[in-house]
Amino acid sequence: MTSRDRDEAKEALRKFTRRQLMELDTCAHCALCTEKCPTYAESQVPNYAPGVRSSKTVRLYNKQFDLRARLLGSRPITEEDVADLADSAFNCTLCGRCMETCPFGFQTHELWVRVREVIRDLGGTPSKVLMLEEMLEESQNPYGLEPDMRLDWADYTDLEEIPEKDQADIAYFVGCTTAFKGANHEVAFAIASILNKLKENWTLLGEDEWCCGSPLLLAGDEHGVKKFAEHNVEALKSRGVKTVITGCAGCFRVFKWEYPKLLGYKPDFEVVHAVEFLRDKLASGELNPDPAKERVGYHDPCELARLGGVIDAPREALKYLASDYVELPESGMDVRCCGGGGLLQAVNNDLRMAIVNRRLGQARELGVEILTSGCPSCKLAFADGVRESDIEIEVLDVMELAARQLGLL
Ligand code: SF4
Ligand code: SF4
Repeated sequence: MTSRDRDEAKEALRKFTRRQLMELDTCAHCALCTEKCPTYAESQVPNYAPGVRSSKTVRLYNKQFDLRARLLGSRPITEEDVADLADSAFNCTLCGRCMETCPFGFQTHELWVRVREVIRDLGGTPSKVLMLEEMLEESQNPYGLEPDMRLDWADYTDLEEIPEKDQADIAYFVGCTTAFKGANHEVAFAIASILNKLKENWTLLGEDEWCCGSPLLLAGDEHGVKKFAEHNVEALKSRGVKTVITGCAGCFRVFKWEYPKLLGYKPDFEVVHAVEFLRDKLASGELNPDPAKERVGYHDPCELARLGGVIDAPREALKYLASDYVELPESGMDVRCCGGGGLLQAVNNDLRMAIVNRRLGQARELGVEILTSGCPSCKLAFADGVRESDIEIEVLDVMELAARQLGLL
């Protein structure tokens, strides 16, 4: 390790805030979080346990900053050190369940994102994650697809009216995982059809919609995401939008909670998840669905419930949509992740599928016939799980169920 490398390592490790250093240092290794961690539960790999990640991060930090380093000089951080920490940090869905469990209230979600940022600066980001970043840079979506394919879902689903207005009260921010993944096209169709049925003054951003930037945040590229935030906010402001509706839990969390931090101000529009909008329209009697007869369960997306603060709205909406609703175990604030978060699919899809199957098994035990969620990543994860197993459960977004029960789908 040259002195320049040492300086860069120090610079990277200085990204930890005082609070984060205190959390890392005082972690009691009680393992309460480990019991709840979905990646550890399915893999039993000690390196994936959150407490082990804390210890390894501290060890790395101490090589540069502990008393011995100050008195005798810092010790080198090797490629193996960084790779080992990256193996731990990226085999994590960033579901935040460890944060809810920790008796000391450590903000582990933020902490694990910061660990990824530090790993990035130390050159240890997994290559598949770096590929995602490159595609985002080139095409403003994480799939590397042409930006003009963003509205293909509207053609495929025969949406009658495709509004792209200069001015509108509401913008429907579709999100990349809905716009570019065929399995989610009907989610976009459902939301658009409901907005049309209600005769709302709404618009799509079309090609002017860029990824919300969530994958960059999850990759630890806080700097890169700012450009996406600035672009999207400007696109919305220039159209005079008062309310942004999104059906994606990741887009929702980033717009609502991360953009104000990244931009240093709160944009002048309201951010609403589609299930909140739907709940209000059902409660006001503006939408009158015929409830489904099948047994319906709901999976809370981590980014919508625990990390986004929306737990009641989907349940209240489902009261109008299903006559036989059952609550899954490990739900709400304590939701067991579906496996679809944190870019785990790019790094360890087998582990993602093991987590998906655990959750699907819980739904099957309750006799769930339709498993709903409020996030296209959850839907993709469950759809992959059903396809690869003998579990016969229909996987739908809440908005698709709503459109179906309203006779729109
Ligand atoms: S965020 Fe979720 S997957 Fe990551 S360590 Fe915590 S509980 Fe485990
Ligand atoms: S629950 Fe908190 S204190 Fe216990 S091991 Fe996890 S992070 Fe450390």
